[in-house]
Amino acid sequence: MSIKVYLLDGGDLLMDQSLITWNHGMGSTKRIPVFSVFIDHPDGKVLFDTGFDLEQARKDLPFEEPEQSSEQTIPVQLGKIGVKPGDIDILVNSHLHFDHCGANHLFSQAENIVHKQELREAFSPETFERLGYNRGLFDFPDRDYHLIEGDYEVLPGIQLIFTPGHTVGHYSLLVELDSGPVLYTADAAWCRENLEHDHLMGLHHDPLAMLCSFQRLKQLIAVRKPTLLYPHDLEDYHHYKKAPDYYV
Ligand SMILES: [Zn+2]
Repeated sequence: MSIKVYLLDGGDLLMDQSLITWNHGMGSTKRIPVFSVFIDHPDGKVLFDTGFDLEQARKDLPFEEPEQSSEQTIPVQLGKIGVKPGDIDILVNSHLHFDHCGANHLFSQAENIVHKQELREAFSPETFERLGYNRGLFDFPDRDYHLIEGDYEVLPGIQLIFTPGHTVGHYSLLVELDSGPVLYTADAAWCRENLEHDHLMGLHHDPLAMLCSFQRLKQLIAVRKPTLLYPHDLEDYHHYKKAPDYYV
């Protein structure tokens, strides 16, 4: 059986341009997509991120005008490919911002992998990061987190690339498919514009670390020439394959 990668549409948010490209475009806004990645692997079912929880986002970040139809929830998206939340073996969080762990509560049976420092930061964020994290989305009494550091191989062909900067413990995802590698930057680079022009996003824990992660990703892209997926690039997102379609 080949490894397959599915993108699970999760709705969208409104963002000021200056948060997408630091100090540029303040006052103009753009809607940005949110999605999660499901990997069907011969050795297990892996989910990378879980999008946002509509109720929490509307309550805590109403200015982002979150939109998510009933079709765009994780259970419905997984259902399109015949998978139930209880079937997921491993849940990985790129980081613990609200729009990447909003449905974590559905996966209590799964091994939940997250960077050690990311979990610590999420419990006690810097003041300028408080809106990004919500304890109710990741702090569950029955959750036995598998805490990792550095690069990490989840299963053969599923590699987590340590790319801090946006947050302290951020991971990008590299999956080796029959057709070649797929690189999902996650929030290490929100859009093509960020990476191609070294234009940092306006939301970051450490801008210098973000720039180093840009360099690392660009080196990886130059050598491996992967299919490239950005998390919040509306123009590119139109061209991505979305579940039930897949990359293989
Ligand atoms: Zn983020």
